[in-house]
Amino acid sequence: MLQGGCLCGCVRYEVGEFLTPPVHCNCATCRKRQGAAISTNAGVSVNQFRLLSGDELINSFESSPGKRGYFCSACGSHLYAKHDSREALILRLGCLDDDQEVPPPTAHIWRSDAAEWFDPKEQLKELPEGRRPKST
Ligand SMILES: [Zn+2]
Ligand SMILES: [Zn+2]
Repeated sequence: MLQGGCLCGCVRYEVGEFLTPPVHCNCATCRKRQGAAISTNAGVSVNQFRLLSGDELINSFESSPGKRGYFCSACGSHLYAKHDSREALILRLGCLDDDQEVPPPTAHIWRSDAAEWFDPKEQLKELPEGRRPKST
């Protein structure tokens, strides 16, 4: 079982088998929700997901008709989304604990909706921890 939780640590969960492999979603809704270029997600059956703590803190927002995003109301971490009519979650993999074996993402989706400034094919340099590039 994988475990994960929100930034403040109040919401904790465990998750079993993924229903669909991880992908990087580039859509505008994910971008706004995460405040980032992409959101990395995998499908999980509701019976493979179990909340361990913090259920009273979970709030939701209807991001499109019939689909809600669920987040910790104390720290704002987005945990999963769910279509009201489906028995599966779209799990936000960034909230998994990072000391576990998570299968690597297999695709980018919604590239047609991606931010102009993000191209996953571009190789960027990697800087040491705590450093940012100097302005040009
Ligand atoms: Zn939290
Ligand atoms: Zn998306």
